[in-house]
Amino acid sequence: MNTMKAAQIGKPGGNWELVERDIPQPGPGQVRVKVEACGICHSDVLIKEGLWPGIQYPRVPGHEVAGRIDAVGSGVTGWEKGRRVGVGWHGGHCFQCEQCRRGDFAMCANRKVTGIDFDGGYAEHMIAPAAALAAIPDELPAQEAGPFMCAGVTVFNALRHSGARGGDVVAVHGIGGLGHLGVQYARQMGFVTVAIGRGRDKEPLARKLGAHHYIDSGADEAAAELQKLGGARVILATAPNAKAISALVDAWGVGALGGAISEPAWRTKPSWYLVATEDKMIPPPAQRFMSERAGSTVLEVAGSHAVYVSQPNAVAKLIEKAAEGVSKRSS
Ligand SMILES: [Zn+2]
Ligand SMILES: [Zn+2]
Repeated sequence: MNTMKAAQIGKPGGNWELVERDIPQPGPGQVRVKVEACGICHSDVLIKEGLWPGIQYPRVPGHEVAGRIDAVGSGVTGWEKGRRVGVGWHGGHCFQCEQCRRGDFAMCANRKVTGIDFDGGYAEHMIAPAAALAAIPDELPAQEAGPFMCAGVTVFNALRHSGARGGDVVAVHGIGGLGHLGVQYARQMGFVTVAIGRGRDKEPLARKLGAHHYIDSGADEAAAELQKLGGARVILATAPNAKAISALVDAWGVGALGGAISEPAWRTKPSWYLVATEDKMIPPPAQRFMSERAGSTVLEVAGSHAVYVSQPNAVAKLIEKAAEGVSKRSS
């Protein structure tokens, strides 16, 4: 009666197991969420394959959760039973470390990741720290709200923190899970929105989602095409390919390292992996772990997200561009 279904991974490299578990009770500062929908993210492979240091198994992945609070633990204020909430990658912070005291909760030294440090949304119920909750408006269906918790916020934050302003050329590379959201945000934020895909088959979708321009990187030199538009202020890289990313470096007008990489390095085995020391999504130690596993040359750079590229000259250019961005910001 007081059990629920959950999909767990029992050990690194193990298969999915559908299990019955006791419905958990929220502890102090936590709520229990009745899950209505949970998006699937490629990062779930980190749990399945044991590619994140220190995961305790069995573990229930899932960090694109939308649901409703159905129990509230002691000491929780501001949230009550029945509220619609989402839980994303960010699984809570301590409010006490240096970063938290500066308000940079995503960089909390003691932060938790949903579905990695504690069980996530591939279950009928999950426990979440109240600090990790996002309110969901009533009119937004759960299956649409879920993916905003990871894929959506990744591209949204990449764009709004990029320093680009209305009218700037923004390219979205890859029209997949992240990219199709990135195109919509870019258009709505007032950017001249360029979608870059391989082949023409994604063009109708990209244009329907708001892209002003579409570049087929299979047929045309994407960097040259972007330069014809004045060069991109931001290239939001969501396509899983170090070579393709390297080829776009020349299209950058002025910028800093940023963007979103959805494919893990060990799959594409880039020759260079730029570990971003200001990464808010994947902590630098985990990036180092993954890039060493991929056999890449690791380079640490100040940046908001890891970048992996295939050519040394692309690395040099990225660093140059990042430096330009830094000097621009500080001048
Ligand atoms: Zn994710
Ligand atoms: Zn903290």
